[in-house]
Amino acid sequence: MATSHAGPFYLTTKMKKTNSKEESESLEQIAAKLKKERIAIETELLKIAVPNKNVPGDWQSKFPYGNSDSGTASLERQADEVEEYSTRLPLERNLEIKLAAVDAAIAKIAKGTYGKCEKCGKNIPLERMEIFPEARLCVDCQE
Ligand SMILES: [Zn+2]
Repeated sequence: MATSHAGPFYLTTKMKKTNSKEESESLEQIAAKLKKERIAIETELLKIAVPNKNVPGDWQSKFPYGNSDSGTASLERQADEVEEYSTRLPLERNLEIKLAAVDAAIAKIAKGTYGKCEKCGKNIPLERMEIFPEARLCVDCQE
């Protein structure tokens, strides 16, 4: 009863059959993929934002030069800062949304509701979940 086995991904994905053993292996792979993605998103986020301590899951864009001493910064520099900040905001938002989606998917795997369409309740084909691990809707409902 080995609980963790790190077999190469391609071996299990190549042989497509829908017995539950293979499905749970794929789910493990998806979970691993999601966790990797989570780390990647978080790394990106940490470059431009700081976690909001008051609101879990919320991030706040960092001012590029820090915003504590606005009195001493030159006007030009302040203008640069605001410009840079305004380009970071949408990026930060985007990453935050992605991170939330990945987190939701990880939580669903833990709860055992992963892979079910949130709208119609049908099972989403595993192939789709492998391509879009954070998918919440089946193809029909997505459109
Ligand atoms: Zn659906």
